[in-house]
Amino acid sequence: MNKRNIFFYLLISIFITACGSGTESNTASDAGADLSKIYKWKMVTTWPANFPIFQEGAIKFADDVRAMSNGRLDVRVYAGGELVPALQVFDAVSQGIAEMGHGSAYYWAGKVPEAQFFSTVPFGMTAKGMNAWLYNGGGLELWQEIYKPFGLTTFPMGNTGVQMGGWFNKQINSLDDVKGLRMRIPGLGGKVFKKAGGNPVLMAGGEIYTALERGTLDATEWVAPFHDMRLGLNRAAKYYYYPGWHEPGTAFELMINDENWQTLPNDLQEIVKVAAAATSEWIYAQMEFHNQAALTELRTKKNVEILEFPEEVLKEFKRLTKETLDEEAAASPAFKRVYDAYEDFRNRYHAWDELSEEAYQKSLRLE
Ligand code: CA
Repeated sequence: MNKRNIFFYLLISIFITACGSGTESNTASDAGADLSKIYKWKMVTTWPANFPIFQEGAIKFADDVRAMSNGRLDVRVYAGGELVPALQVFDAVSQGIAEMGHGSAYYWAGKVPEAQFFSTVPFGMTAKGMNAWLYNGGGLELWQEIYKPFGLTTFPMGNTGVQMGGWFNKQINSLDDVKGLRMRIPGLGGKVFKKAGGNPVLMAGGEIYTALERGTLDATEWVAPFHDMRLGLNRAAKYYYYPGWHEPGTAFELMINDENWQTLPNDLQEIVKVAAAATSEWIYAQMEFHNQAALTELRTKKNVEILEFPEEVLKEFKRLTKETLDEEAAASPAFKRVYDAYEDFRNRYHAWDELSEEAYQKSLRLE
């Protein structure tokens, strides 16, 4: 061999070694994976068919997974009521009626009260704090541990951003104005509202507009400008209040039947994780984009007064939120465990948030 040939030989040896070790590790992690096997899965969601951004996000996720897996993981998406009722998504995926589900963990509060922390709690963290906690602060591991006994695993898949406080047919100038007010406000927010003297009403999204328009309801929360306008709420109430103290950053979940999850080869599992994270970002960005556009439309073209809740009211809601969470924690060790983990991270995160985003936002308001 001359010098040039030796060099060439070495180069090829290095190349083969490099490829070889790569192939070896793939084989090891995907032992027995049949690359021609097609997984035909079903995903059930808690959203109505064609529901903008949320149902669209679930469909986008399925499309991404299909494209990235070259059709090997083929997920068909069913809206709420198409295969199972919206509020049976958790049970359906747990029992393997569908392999996947998309919703938000606070829907399962009746079954798993502590799951609410993986969705949102009043005066809780916004989307960026939730993402920091879930992806890096131990939140997701805790969440997966809590879903495990139900035969489920889960990943974050979306966030609404800060919601609006809701639509009111009378002004809220003091705590007295909250007393006796019939408002559609579910979950922990509803409990707090009740403690403040309000009258929380449970009502499905489809009935809200008529109830508010006819005066069966005095007020309602829904989501934020984009979805609220789609529902026509600006035509049923005059005052639109902020901030959405009760839902500061509602996270969505991709839940997967754990037995089915274990049958997926490693590469398909990675595709699911990456597609879920990408969809999470997509949903949040869609929310921020469409809400700013809808807010501009509300301000310039609609006959709506956009008002901030008085400090007195927010302070009391905040005090009653702590009281509510403390009561739930006293009644349930499982709730307390997640509450403590959430609060521990939130307190540490808040210190950073205060002198980064909060201080910066304050500087923007300087004239
Ligand atoms: Ca809401």
